[in-house]
Amino acid sequence: MRLEEIIKGISTIQLLYLSDSYLRDFQAVTITIQPEGKNNAYLVLNRTTFHPKAGGQPSDTGFITSPNFRIEVKKAILVDGVVVHYGKIIEGKPGTTSNERVKGEIQWNPRYKYMKRHTAAHLLDHCLTTIIGKPVETTDSWLGDQCYIGYNGDAPTNDHLREAEVIANQMITRGGNVNIENVSQEELLKRAPNAPNIYRLPHLEEYRIVTIQGCNPIPCAGTHLRDLKEIGQFTAIRLEKLASSFRVYYDIK
Ligand SMILES: [Zn+2]
Repeated sequence: MRLEEIIKGISTIQLLYLSDSYLRDFQAVTITIQPEGKNNAYLVLNRTTFHPKAGGQPSDTGFITSPNFRIEVKKAILVDGVVVHYGKIIEGKPGTTSNERVKGEIQWNPRYKYMKRHTAAHLLDHCLTTIIGKPVETTDSWLGDQCYIGYNGDAPTNDHLREAEVIANQMITRGGNVNIENVSQEELLKRAPNAPNIYRLPHLEEYRIVTIQGCNPIPCAGTHLRDLKEIGQFTAIRLEKLASSFRVYYDIK
């Protein structure tokens, strides 16, 4: 079944991870359930904290349970702003009725690791900007294993990358709040004119600004830590030079 058909008529759902990235379980009601064969199903809920594979972040996994069924969610897919859960039916039979009360729960360990890697990515942007002396421009990132951030332009030297790593770890040890607010486009351009991703943002009514203590504000819809301390330790693993860009492979622990 095509995903566009599953979300037909659904304009919006509530994305709970945007207001609380630490939320692990939630109550919701089903909007649609589409079985696939005997063992699998697609589900859309009125609200979810399952983060889809998007913006370099791998999909959350977990469970959706009702009195009639239990589904192991293998992936969450973003389709026109709607999250579609896909998984294996491990108990009962979901049927196709809407308005059924369910409980959702995500597997926390991988999600928390992505939150650490994502927040660390912003920290690396900040530290590279500080060392190089001009704002960096990001191209893409991957928060799964072989985690990296891509940047436009010439690669820094290995010494510069080491210096950025040292500053990042000093900031992690010191700790710092991560603050989130929603602002207009005008306010965004005023407050974050040199953000690393500013030139590749979609046009929106409202933008989410994330400010890590000690860093410039950045527009971002990702899942962040509350405090830099939670990253633990940042390690720049290697630099990969591409034609007109470069990647920094890194990790946290
Ligand atoms: Zn972010």
